[in-house]
Amino acid sequence: MSFGTAPFLALLRLAQIVQSRLLSISLRFAIALSGLVVDGIGVAVAEDVPLPRLRPPLLSQPQSFREAAGPDFNPSDVSSTPTDCDGRLEKMAAFEPLPRLIGPGVCGGSDMVRLNATMLASGLRVELKPAPVLRCEFAESVAAWIRDEAAPRVGKMGSTLKAVETYDDFECRERNRIAGAKASEHGKGNALDLRAFILADGRALNLADIALAKSFREELRDSACHRFTTVLGPGSDSFHESHIHLDLIERRAGFHMCQWDVREPVKVEVAARVPLPVPRPAIQPRAASHRKL
Ligand SMILES: [Zn+2]
Repeated sequence: MSFGTAPFLALLRLAQIVQSRLLSISLRFAIALSGLVVDGIGVAVAEDVPLPRLRPPLLSQPQSFREAAGPDFNPSDVSSTPTDCDGRLEKMAAFEPLPRLIGPGVCGGSDMVRLNATMLASGLRVELKPAPVLRCEFAESVAAWIRDEAAPRVGKMGSTLKAVETYDDFECRERNRIAGAKASEHGKGNALDLRAFILADGRALNLADIALAKSFREELRDSACHRFTTVLGPGSDSFHESHIHLDLIERRAGFHMCQWDVREPVKVEVAARVPLPVPRPAIQPRAASHRKL
């Protein structure tokens, strides 16, 4: 009966194909529909959740000069007329007046100068290298200290002071470059770091060097601590082992912070008294061993 079953089977196969296509189309339709429903629910839920409040931008640029200049800005301060401080500084130093330095934050200041050199009574110049950017009144104290305290003491050493090697001046940063610490006086042009004195005979005196005469370092420290409100050097903390920090921060009751430990150089005779180690008896080589190590 093969003649009778073949058409029947072909018809049955066709019916199966049509059914599976219909099923596939209906499934796709159902999935699409469910997607719409889910989306619809999603939209409805999202509409109920309050939108987060807009945060202010983390960094905002000043919109105007006045905003950048800060609330204490007074237009009458902007003038090419020399200030009283400029007039005093002119008598003892070579300097360039600078425009007002602005922020960020507490950084900057008005009446800033670049201090190129201190003029000695003899007419000689003591260069500051690199020339620091400082607040004028602080520059006045630095120039006076170099002229009245540092240069005469160098003179006692049989030479003349030719230059002062500086290390750090105006820089907007936290104290000791530690993030989150208080703003450094360097950010206000009210601090200067010194490294060395350069003498006319070519000597370079590193102020933190314990080989430098103790009395010379003591006299420099005492005169600096008298004139400046902060003096930090070796022994104050690990950040000031190689230079001397000076600033004129204002503290209550005129308190001065003077932390420069003038250390003694290591004495040779102390080293000579240290007993030598007892010599060990010679190790006798074993006769049987000929290994090389
Ligand atoms: Zn410093």
